[in-house]
Amino acid sequence: MSFESLGLMPELLRAVREQGYETPTPIQIQAIPLVLEGRDLMGRAQTGTGKTAGFTLPMLQLLAPHASSSASPARHPIRALILTPTRELAMQVEESVRTYGKYIPLRTTTIFGGVNINPQTKALRAGVEIVVATPGRLLDHQGQGNLNFSQLEILVLDEADRMLDMGFIRDIQKILALLPAKRQTLLFSATFTDEIKQLASKFLKTPATVQITPQNTAAELVRQVVHPVDRERKRALLSHLITSRKLQQVLVFTRTKHGANRLSEQLDKDGISSMAIHGNKSQPQRIKALEDFKKGAVRVLVATDIAARGLDIDMLPHVVNYELPHVAEDYIHRIGRTGRAGTEGEALSLVCVDEQSLLRDIEKLLRKDLPKDVITGYAPDPSIPAEPISTGRQGGGAGRGRGPARPARAGSGAAPRGERGRHPSRPGARGK
Ligand code: AMP
Repeated sequence: MSFESLGLMPELLRAVREQGYETPTPIQIQAIPLVLEGRDLMGRAQTGTGKTAGFTLPMLQLLAPHASSSASPARHPIRALILTPTRELAMQVEESVRTYGKYIPLRTTTIFGGVNINPQTKALRAGVEIVVATPGRLLDHQGQGNLNFSQLEILVLDEADRMLDMGFIRDIQKILALLPAKRQTLLFSATFTDEIKQLASKFLKTPATVQITPQNTAAELVRQVVHPVDRERKRALLSHLITSRKLQQVLVFTRTKHGANRLSEQLDKDGISSMAIHGNKSQPQRIKALEDFKKGAVRVLVATDIAARGLDIDMLPHVVNYELPHVAEDYIHRIGRTGRAGTEGEALSLVCVDEQSLLRDIEKLLRKDLPKDVITGYAPDPSIPAEPISTGRQGGGAGRGRGPARPARAGSGAAPRGERGRHPSRPGARGK
């Protein structure tokens, strides 16, 4: 299967070739022809499957015929809207739109909270065909009269499950009410929960469905190893692994913002350059952290699940689970940062006695046991008893949590609450 045979136009084929893509991924093979036909689509696919190109390429092709080189704002109405849960994802999607749309004169912009609204307003007023936005800030612009969706042709809901998890349902409904009924709607989600199906039945018209199961994505491509270790020795082991194996570009996951900050500071003390990225960081801080990491100026990026969601870092070689996630599916999202689209990657998990049940959940989801490798000098002390860990979240996705919150354990380095539960309800925090 080639990109040519999917019916893509020469301008797009050229851009794809320049990216070095040789063959389309399974989600692209399935989705591109359906979108080109004008069908509504429900896609079950995670980051790492090539889903962004799967909707961006055909979207650009559908919009290309009326692309205009005129400077007049009237010649550049909003024709496509892509909604994403986070600003990071919005930035990455927009980057894809720019990359693949390089040879088509369509304008694109991002709209998200946490940054000055004025440059966004200016971009919207100048005329822009493709808007990539988080829901809250988009509604702020609506309130200011900056948006006109009368010419909208295509709506994409990217990572719809995360948008619902983050409490964006009302914002999404408000936005949908602003859009013309006659449009093409594409919905992508890592899971098809009842909530997602309900959303789709309300807003999509006889959608085609394409699915990529976790089994044939990152989970299979990535070499996964568990390093058993005592909770108090995790940091020393992490530094040891990074130094002794000369690891570069390591993405490390913690459960909480507080834990991410602490770990990043400790790594710096060990002489390993690192930065933390999470919901409390300002937008410029996040952008800088990601850029420094991408260009190799920072060796380790410490991230929480929410912050890392949607991060597009090509060929990331190493992912470390410093703490296992509470929800087993998040493990798959995490390791999806490596081993993408054919490149080999590895995911190391530092697992202490407290996390045994989390590990079992993950192995159940993967339908296999992960290999255990005790590093010499870091063997866990069997006399240390397990302590309860905080769930790190409240009010997470229906049916995805692990039951009632357990008390935070003392001295664990884990804050009692993670960022997910608080995030959507924080006043003024919409769209961040
Ligand atoms: P996504 O799932 O959209 O986040 O994409 C995952 C990664 O795969 C991105 O870094 C893309 O640049 C890359 N990618 C997308 N399509 C292809 C392809 N057909 N061949 C190789 N890499 C791809």
